[in-house]
Amino acid sequence: MKTLDQIAAELQGYDPQALSAGQVLDFLSRLVMPVQDVVELPLMQASGRVLARDVVSPFDVPPHDNSAMDGYAFDGGQLTDSPLELQVAPGTALAGKAWQGSVQPGQCVKIMTGAIMPTGLDTVVPQEFVSVRTVPGQAEVITIPPKLLRAGDNRRLRGEDLMQGRPALQKGELLTPARLGLAASLGLKTLAVFRQLRVAYFSTGDEILSLGEAPREGAVYDSNRYTVFGMLSRLGCEVIDMGVVRDDPALLEAAFTRAALEADAIITSGGVSVGEADFTKAMMKKLGDVAFWRIAMRPGRPMAVGRISSTKSASSPVSTSAGSYQNNSNPNGAILFGLPGNPVAVMVTFLAFVRPALLQMMGASASPPPLLKARSTEAIRKKAGRTEYQRGWVSTAADGSLQVKTTGSQGSGVLRSMAEANGLMVLHHAQGNVAVGDEVDVLMFEGAL
Ligand code: AMP
Ligand code: MG
Repeated sequence: MKTLDQIAAELQGYDPQALSAGQVLDFLSRLVMPVQDVVELPLMQASGRVLARDVVSPFDVPPHDNSAMDGYAFDGGQLTDSPLELQVAPGTALAGKAWQGSVQPGQCVKIMTGAIMPTGLDTVVPQEFVSVRTVPGQAEVITIPPKLLRAGDNRRLRGEDLMQGRPALQKGELLTPARLGLAASLGLKTLAVFRQLRVAYFSTGDEILSLGEAPREGAVYDSNRYTVFGMLSRLGCEVIDMGVVRDDPALLEAAFTRAALEADAIITSGGVSVGEADFTKAMMKKLGDVAFWRIAMRPGRPMAVGRISSTKSASSPVSTSAGSYQNNSNPNGAILFGLPGNPVAVMVTFLAFVRPALLQMMGASASPPPLLKARSTEAIRKKAGRTEYQRGWVSTAADGSLQVKTTGSQGSGVLRSMAEANGLMVLHHAQGNVAVGDEVDVLMFEGAL
């Protein structure tokens, strides 16, 4: 395990007072480590979790050559440039009920989608393409028009979906609906996944009201608790929700200590800006190895990062919804993300930095979500030398291209414009002013928020 100073020494031009967004990501990726504990879960419970081992296909999928259409199976070697007449053999090949028998040259077999291809037959003509002639007392005869088919058409090959012995899913993949279905198609009842990441969250600040408290002058309701809860839940983390912690050294110490014991990561909001007259920063420093950063970004800027030690703390086991335990995966303590207090800054710093770090801790190999390119419908003032995130609404323009407009006031406390947005424009570090019609990168919320 590296100390913060050791990580800082590895980075080019590390200056805690002026970090770029890229340097923050680099730092965090060196700080966090993936959980090790693996649990075997039934498929439905494994939904959204991270696969802990490769899944090797125990057999071919599909296990037999089968028909992709309702129609007639025949030997495609008989196709020529003339119409092909074939006698329909008795019986039908059904999905789940193979056709038994042997087919003579000049014959075909009526077949349904998914049915195993009868031995020796490799091609299926869809029923809507043939004409059928019935003569009482004799076998039906179909006519296949010329130049319609090639040998092998409308047949799904054994193993074309998954080959026996090959990895069907890889360690580190998030179990999306498609991957869950794929695992089921292999007959697997359970999957080995990493245990859920436990993330503790609390808000700080004496002016912060919990829901249910009576309003008072100068006080605001705690919105960060809910945005962070929503973002953590979407990631599939177990949230240890600790509410608001008052600016009181004893309360803060108890909160950090409990969180470091119970959780893999601690997220706080508030109390990390320069000139804060509260005890939050002092307590972070006292209980762990913590750096206080100023990041070249907007909104955001101040952020505390490090580890809060769990060793100085109480010796009694802790009980949570996940059971009773003494140690988490990281015996040296929990990773701390001390976010600024402003509601939009919390969401932006979470998306930009905390989310990728948590995914790494979850054991996920997920690459960052792709940025979309959209044309800005307005001019935006932007200073080079910092990353700016603008709340935006992406839509399809009349010509079919993507366009983006900002959603009202971009103040870092204005949650409304965040709630009205479907993505964040990412105006990169070196980028300057944006003119009307310029393409900008957008991080879409869908999938992330
Ligand atoms: P701070 O970073 O503590 O200086 O807070 C910056 C601004 O964010 C102040 O206006 C706070 O009132 C506001 N703020 C801090 N925490 C919260 C919270 N949990 N919910 C809503 N607003 C908050
Ligand atoms: Mg404050």
